[in-house]
Amino acid sequence: MPHPQDTVQELSLRDPESFWRHHADLLHWHRKPSRALRRTTKTLPSGVSHPHWTWFPDGEISTTYNCLDRHVAAGRGDNVAIIWESPVTGSKEKYTYRRLLDEVEVLAGVLREEGVRKGDVVLIYMPMIPAALIAALAIVRLGAMHAAVFGGFAATSLAQRIEAAKPRMIMTASCGIEGTKGPLAYRPMVEGAIEKSSFKPEKVIIWQRDQLRWDKPDKLAGQRNWQRLVKSARNRGVRAEAVPVKSNEGLYVIYTSGTTGLPKGVIREAGGHAVGLSLSIRYLFDINGPGDVMFCTSDIGWVVGHCYILYGPLMVGATSILYEGKPVGTPDAGAFWRVVEEHKVNTLSTAPTALRAIRKDDPDNKFFEEVGRRGGLKTLRGLFLAGERSEPSIIRIYQDLLTKYAAPGANVVDHWWSTESGSPISGLAQHSTAGLLAPASPQDAAYKPLPIKPGSAGKPMPGFDVRIVDDEGNEVPKGTMGNVVMVTPLAPTGLTTLFNDEERFYKGYLKRFNGRWLDTGDAGMIDEDGYIHIMARSDDIINVAAHRFSTGAIEQAILSHPDVGEASVVGIPDPLKGHLPFAFIQPRTTPGSNDGPIPATPMPELFTSINTLVREQIGAIASLGGIIQGRNMIPKTRSGKTLRRVLRELVENGVKGDFDAKVNVPPTVEDAEVVTVARGRVREYFEEREGAKKMGRAKL
Ligand code: AMP
Repeated sequence: MPHPQDTVQELSLRDPESFWRHHADLLHWHRKPSRALRRTTKTLPSGVSHPHWTWFPDGEISTTYNCLDRHVAAGRGDNVAIIWESPVTGSKEKYTYRRLLDEVEVLAGVLREEGVRKGDVVLIYMPMIPAALIAALAIVRLGAMHAAVFGGFAATSLAQRIEAAKPRMIMTASCGIEGTKGPLAYRPMVEGAIEKSSFKPEKVIIWQRDQLRWDKPDKLAGQRNWQRLVKSARNRGVRAEAVPVKSNEGLYVIYTSGTTGLPKGVIREAGGHAVGLSLSIRYLFDINGPGDVMFCTSDIGWVVGHCYILYGPLMVGATSILYEGKPVGTPDAGAFWRVVEEHKVNTLSTAPTALRAIRKDDPDNKFFEEVGRRGGLKTLRGLFLAGERSEPSIIRIYQDLLTKYAAPGANVVDHWWSTESGSPISGLAQHSTAGLLAPASPQDAAYKPLPIKPGSAGKPMPGFDVRIVDDEGNEVPKGTMGNVVMVTPLAPTGLTTLFNDEERFYKGYLKRFNGRWLDTGDAGMIDEDGYIHIMARSDDIINVAAHRFSTGAIEQAILSHPDVGEASVVGIPDPLKGHLPFAFIQPRTTPGSNDGPIPATPMPELFTSINTLVREQIGAIASLGGIIQGRNMIPKTRSGKTLRRVLRELVENGVKGDFDAKVNVPPTVEDAEVVTVARGRVREYFEEREGAKKMGRAKL
């Protein structure tokens, strides 16, 4: 018997028309679509033609209506929509659906008075406060699109996005609060970005926070005090009704996090998003409706935050936690677990990098155990991880903890997706197929998700047809590494073009395989059981003596060493083999141990034991060309992705003895200081190596 997830998958690909129409029927349409999918060909100004498709072509929908009005109209206005948990300000606040709708109606009225019209873009540059969600829902209520930019991005990154999105106005706040660092004024960033950008938005609407105010916004042309505008509109009874848009019109624009190159503006289409997202929040995340609580620790500036803090939970009438804090330090590594306990969270979604940070501060899972022992995690049905590869060790640790303390059958679910896909491409469906296969199947009551397989990101989600191909575009046998591609059309949440840049959509995603496949930019394999393993970005593949290795797989081997807390692998040029894998590692710290300076070159015994693991788990041919150790030297983007490219450039320069050469650090870097630390370590390592060579010592 095939597993229900396989049956659902097969149906979604064999008969997309009836599969997706069935799901579309679960939503409110201002105009019901008569069909699910229309396939066409698009011809670009350059003359190139490529496959194009439209989901629910003649439907009209309002996403805000589906997230708010629909629930209030059905008598569920008193249910809690949003719980704001802000350890950094010491605040907590609950918004019922009724209150949220009220706030959104008034703010939408304000925006209409300020000139926002259907089809406009409004840029959101906000911290994690309820006003950010209210802004997004209000913009969408008018049929306009939001372009949310991660609050705290530097002026240059923000300017790039203003230039590209051409927003009519910017909605922002007086400050963000980054962990324990205190308030960060947004004004210099917003004004600096507008200054740098050749496109000038008409207005900036500013939410004043008590922690740090924006001095007299109303005194400057184009600047407005948000709270004052809302108060005035409320006094005058100004409100706005939901304006529907065509299914294929934009709901939002979002810029990819950009570990490489200039950010791309992905457009999310209203109809496909609503249908695809309300399927995934139920089917994959097991958040089904009123009473269920979702805690997604991402930021509203990322696609994950758009989907599973804001739209997903609200679409089904569940409760969503909006968390303004960090995994550690606000105040400690137990923060997530206590939020789960206090609000009876059912599904927690986070990034592996957050769990690594927690484990660094709490290597014995003291906090988890403490909350678990008093029964505080009994409501938790799933711990979802995405954003980058999760090493099997972290999955196993948390799976054991869930089995001990969470709800019976709770799973750690690695799931893979991207800004472009708009919802998970793969994962393990945690909810029965009820309502997905019509009529509901008798298997539903006894539904058991597919078993987890640490190291794999699960099996494909409905509508996503994933294949592995070689560089010529030919499919490779099961278990073989290659380029991860998708068959078009993508599932309804997936992109069909880029904002104002159709040529770049073709060049970036379709050209590589002549329109036959859509390139995800990831490298990986599909195993014998059909599970997908995403190993690295294609750029992060190292070619060692004509063998292709993913940095992710080598990192995984290194991380199985008990003394290694974090690892990042890059290719180092080698005259004989082309490249050799080279590792940056952060030793695991145990509380009370000596945290003093450590040499860049590890002790020969440590090198040998790590290298043995790599040789055993990957193969002798992947033997490491070297290891640099240090603390806080692995640079990341603000969304938690490792910037291997930066480390690679530093190492390449180091090999040439050029330690001061400029490296290309993207503006999305979380902390530029980390790059300086890495540079210092690289210098120390190569200088030590030179010295050792001169003294005739064996090369490490
Ligand atoms: P973004 O568009 O910023 O969300 O980044 C998407 C990229 O993150 C994907 O193309 C993958 O490279 C990586 N990614 C996301 N989730 C996973 C996962 N579960 N396993 C491995 N890589 C992942």
